[in-house]
Amino acid sequence: MILPALTEAESPFWRPIKYSLFPPLGLATLAAYLSPDDEIDLQDQHVEVLNLDDEPDLVIIQVYITNAYRSYKIADHYRKKGAYVLLGGLHVTSLPDEAMPHADTIFLGPGEETFPQFLKDFKANQAKPIYFSAKRSLDTIPKIRRDLIKRHLYLVPNSIVVTRGCPHHCDFCYKDAFFEGGKSFYTQKVDDALAEIDRLPGKHLYFLDDHLLGNSKFATGLFEGMKGMNRVFQAAATIDSILRGNLIEKAAEAGLRSLFVGFETFSPENLKQSNKKQNLKKDYKAAVQRLHSLGIMINGSFVFGLDDDDKDVFKRTVDWGVENGITTSTYHILTPYPGTRLFQQMEQEDRILTRNWDLYDTRQVVYKTTKLTATELKEGYDWAYKEFYNWSNIFKASLTHPSAKHKLKHFLYSGGWKKFEPLWNFLIKTKNLNNMLPLLEAILSKVKLEKGVKGTEFQPAHKLQINKNKSCLK
Ligand code: SF4
Repeated sequence: MILPALTEAESPFWRPIKYSLFPPLGLATLAAYLSPDDEIDLQDQHVEVLNLDDEPDLVIIQVYITNAYRSYKIADHYRKKGAYVLLGGLHVTSLPDEAMPHADTIFLGPGEETFPQFLKDFKANQAKPIYFSAKRSLDTIPKIRRDLIKRHLYLVPNSIVVTRGCPHHCDFCYKDAFFEGGKSFYTQKVDDALAEIDRLPGKHLYFLDDHLLGNSKFATGLFEGMKGMNRVFQAAATIDSILRGNLIEKAAEAGLRSLFVGFETFSPENLKQSNKKQNLKKDYKAAVQRLHSLGIMINGSFVFGLDDDDKDVFKRTVDWGVENGITTSTYHILTPYPGTRLFQQMEQEDRILTRNWDLYDTRQVVYKTTKLTATELKEGYDWAYKEFYNWSNIFKASLTHPSAKHKLKHFLYSGGWKKFEPLWNFLIKTKNLNNMLPLLEAILSKVKLEKGVKGTEFQPAHKLQINKNKSCLK
């Protein structure tokens, strides 16, 4: 089972730490369907040199858009040697015709239901060229083969996924293409998710779910069950789920300490263009305030290059992040992934500039822009990263929090993530990355909020002054 390295992981701008965070959980999940007698080698090119000299019966390769060409080369190499090659993943599902000539079998969509069927067929020498997942459920998935994961090579070996997909339908998101033809959002049983958490050593967990708060009944059960488990965790959720009800308080009580939030853009026009309805007319500042009032750090995601973006968008976005105490920012250049509605629309309008998938890494401009030139967009994107992560802005953003502990946590997390590259590289080279986990757990420890300190009490959105017709930035 092979996860080939993403092309950007080997660019001169490669930050090795970014690609040494999470193990290949999807492959370890599929491995659980193989027999305990099968000899399995799970290789992740992001953290190890691939051994391609072996003679396996079956090779399974996970294909993303920027490792597609590399995946095809590895597939061709093994097929020449007589191995049976299966390709699956996001890119294969989006472009099956492209992947097909490099594989004996391709998998479209998630593999939990179809992989057991494939194995039966494969053993009977009757494997089909295409398996398409129509029925989807996580009710009978076996225990993930975490024993195949080389834990010491990752900073966050305890990554976990307890749902699949997302209830929303943003036009630039890969999600709808991958889940087309079946349910696009479904969850594990709460008890199964809790049992998987219980099997994980240590304190720290990273939920890689697209939207952990997407099903309120499931998330409530999960957070209730996690109370008392003494965990700290990181996850992703949408702005509307932060503002709605009291699910986010339950998450905080269960140990949520840092949240990835898709702010994406402040422009209502851009939100409409992207079908990101769940962000429309939502008060971004109120969501930030609510998270901070619970001691939760924020990793904000922002997209540059939507059609309503002008030259000022970079400065506006960076300033807003700093002023609102966003701990880390992830910026992307808009990228029309094949299979998405955004790609279809841009193709119709003849706006796709290249089909070299290696360039689809959200750091390059691959489409015809409107208000910004391609150079302005690329330079603005590079500038935003540098500006947000300069020491003065890290310091300034840290100081926005009322409690001394939150200030310090912010400073260490943001500075540690972006400013200690040589240390990360040293830890990766000496295979000591996992030894940093206790420090990460300490940084993610609970902030005891002082009563009455200005800024620690969350005010519900309806009590704040919201100008619904203007973007949240204004
Ligand atoms: S909310 Fe996030 S995961 Fe869900 S469809 Fe939109 S971009 Fe994709």
